[in-house]
Amino acid sequence: MLRSSQNLAERLRTVRVRMAAAAASAGRNVDSVTLLAVSKGQPAEQIRAAAAAGLTDVGESYLGEAVGKMAGLGDLPLTWHFIGRLQANKTRPIAERFAWVHGLDRLKIAERLSAQRPYHAPALNVCIQVSLAGEATKGGVRPAEVPDLAAAVAALPRLALRGLMCIPPEETDPERQRGWFAQLRALRDSLAAGGQRLDTLSMGMSGDFEAAIREGATLVRIGTAIFGPRPEGPPPGTIGPS
Ligand SMILES: *Cc1c(COP(=O)(O)O)cnc(C)c1O
Repeated sequence: MLRSSQNLAERLRTVRVRMAAAAASAGRNVDSVTLLAVSKGQPAEQIRAAAAAGLTDVGESYLGEAVGKMAGLGDLPLTWHFIGRLQANKTRPIAERFAWVHGLDRLKIAERLSAQRPYHAPALNVCIQVSLAGEATKGGVRPAEVPDLAAAVAALPRLALRGLMCIPPEETDPERQRGWFAQLRALRDSLAAGGQRLDTLSMGMSGDFEAAIREGATLVRIGTAIFGPRPEGPPPGTIGPS
């Protein structure tokens, strides 16, 4: 355990150094980029170790798994982000337990989240997921649909529309990576020109976060580069294939 938490601290240090270098090369302050630690597939103890190493924001993709981990980590001051696919019949626990939702791509889901957000909680922060390449499996709306969805989501009382999120196709060439992220940034800028100002660009994962930071990411979602490879098999707390 000691050994593995030392590894985590070292990996985290490396990620922070790489983030700072990418920000500096773009003339940006690295403090303007939130590091979201993606802990799906990792046990709760790893999240505890990450918090001890200074991480404050945690991202989970599977509701059952996330709820199980939250139960044992209630003593930590963590901000929980839901980054998985959203299903209409599972919105209530997300509206009740998370501070952020990154994968919003349907108005119906947004309406449910707004209606189900507890009155005593602050508005739920949301990002609209944009499908830049049109890959069906990843979710997201096409760029042309974003302005209308953004206007409708912004009008919901218990949601705070914060920005745009993307999961572009995997690329190893940094220039090609930047091309995708530049598209999301341009979309953000065109919304701003239309009066819809958004402060968040949720983009960049372990394999491409430096390119994302160069193109203006304000939040990077990083899993394996912090925690190491995800353990094999279904994530804890989820039901197997039916
Ligand atoms: C798993 C996941 C990540 C993190 O992926 P890594 O390659 O492990 O950094 C980021 N965003 C989303 C939406 C994910 O599902």
